[in-house]
Amino acid sequence: MTMTDKPATPRPAPSAQAFVPFVSVDAMMRLVHRIGLPTALAQLTDRIEGDFRRWPEFDKTPRVAAHSEIGVIELMPTSDGTHYAFKYVNGHPSNTRAGLQTVTAFGVLARVATGYPLLFAEMTLLTALRTAATSALAARHLAPKGAKVMAMIGNGAQAEFQALALQAVVGIDTVRLYDTDAGATAKCVRNLAGSGLSVIPCTSAEEAVQGAQIITTCTADKRLATVLHDNMVGAGVHINAIGGDCPGKTELAPAILARASTFVEYPPQTRIEGEIQQMPAEHPVTELWQVITGQAAGRASDRQITLFDGVGFAIEDFSALMWLHEALGTETGAAQMLDLIADPDDPRDLYGMLMRSRPEG
Ligand code: NAD
Repeated sequence: MTMTDKPATPRPAPSAQAFVPFVSVDAMMRLVHRIGLPTALAQLTDRIEGDFRRWPEFDKTPRVAAHSEIGVIELMPTSDGTHYAFKYVNGHPSNTRAGLQTVTAFGVLARVATGYPLLFAEMTLLTALRTAATSALAARHLAPKGAKVMAMIGNGAQAEFQALALQAVVGIDTVRLYDTDAGATAKCVRNLAGSGLSVIPCTSAEEAVQGAQIITTCTADKRLATVLHDNMVGAGVHINAIGGDCPGKTELAPAILARASTFVEYPPQTRIEGEIQQMPAEHPVTELWQVITGQAAGRASDRQITLFDGVGFAIEDFSALMWLHEALGTETGAAQMLDLIADPDDPRDLYGMLMRSRPEG
């Protein structure tokens, strides 16, 4: 306010409809600790599975991406006719060099009936949780039964969540870690100490995949990288390839795609963003939701290589926001109430509401 401004007439207290619960990063951290991370990951996996079972009920569209030389900013919307959700998320692999994260996100859940938001939330942590839960869901349906050893290639922000979700949902007991940056692997070893997992740092991707029944690639590089070569993938392995999620950004040698059975979230988005962008447009894929509902076959033999070409789809974020909304119901005071929605006394008198707060005099 400048010296010449008159004080504004305070706006009357907004109605309850005007307030939207906001889940901050701090609130999200406290909520996850209250529930317990393994329980939260298992709950999210079940929640996503439940929503994948009713896949046809959702509006679906490939996410809306704004690309630049160094990254991407995306909007991910969906609705089941009762609720609507969207997430804002970025992917900037070079950010870590400036001390910033590769991926950050926030999102909104709304009522379709009124269009009013129900929830506004941080989604950087929630994305790590739901991405790990989606990997666990794919592995639950596709990995060899009794898989105990997982290789985790790329030990950045997502890595611990990936390992812990597979421990909680699939029952892995060992994780073999590799990252081109030994500091990232050391961080992961430290963070997973006490998790109950046997944690084995490796000095190459070749070493990491030794004896692994599940291989997760979660590296960040804005180019067609080959993190997994064809000779590193033996019969019967399940791969969660989740780091390649943009045009021009992949992790697997095309020869692996030629040998594997590929499972995807939403083909129109995955063909643009996933590993299969390296293959012809008609490359066969199976939609994961159809495996979950029994409409399509999952793993058919012990020697089959199954590949979940995960790019992250809006329904997973919808599930995560619905999970959060329900979890908040039992958590008093976890969210801040934001005065986000204008609430004129007469809904058509928005101007009148503005004038209530004009400077006096
Ligand atoms: P991050 O930058 O925190 O970690 C990435 C790690 O990969 C870094 O430690 C880096 O050193 C390592 N790395 C890069 N090239 C490598 C290589 N050739 N071999 C081994 N390690 C290598 O990023 P993050 O938040 O962990 O995300 C990782 C990737 O996953 C990103 O590309 C991101 O866009 C993607 N992602 C996908 C989903 C999804 O739903 N599929 C969700 C979140 C993030």
